[in-house]
Amino acid sequence: MANCPKCGTGIPKGSQFCGGCGTAVTQLGGDTDEDQNKSVLGSILFWGITFAVIALGTFLIDKYI
Ligand SMILES: [Zn+2]
Repeated sequence: MANCPKCGTGIPKGSQFCGGCGTAVTQLGGDTDEDQNKSVLGSILFWGITFAVIALGTFLIDKYI
């Protein structure tokens, strides 16, 4: 659970407004972190596969040419 940046009241996950002062806290959405983690994981997977393909290609070129 995040706290309101303005008054410090606890804000339930997924809530868009502070229950204490009414400030919009859309930037504190709980799903954002999960989305970022997924995109980081996907990025790591993408570059891992890309590197493996390049390394394999380099290995085969060195071996057969
Ligand atoms: Zn507040």
